[in-house]
Amino acid sequence: MKFCPACEALRTTKIVERAEGYVVRGRWVSVPVRFEACVVCGEAVGSDAEDDAVLAAVYAKRREMEADDEMSTSRVADGAVRILVSKRCCQRG
Ligand SMILES: [Zn+2]
Repeated sequence: MKFCPACEALRTTKIVERAEGYVVRGRWVSVPVRFEACVVCGEAVGSDAEDDAVLAAVYAKRREMEADDEMSTSRVADGAVRILVSKRCCQRG
């Protein structure tokens, strides 16, 4: 039994699985989410910690996507990347 904010009453809960999507820095990111939901109205009654875990998963996935983006960018513009690096070396020296 957990307090359901939609019913404003203690309700039996069930574990529900679904995909939740967020837009993070201009990219759509969806992650599979398991949460406790009220069996009466379907409202999620998970804790803040569970919400934080979902957001952490979303940002982790977004970072993975960024890493993939950077890899493909450096493959396409390998020469440009090298020029930038050597300029930075000159400024430092
Ligand atoms: Zn409810």
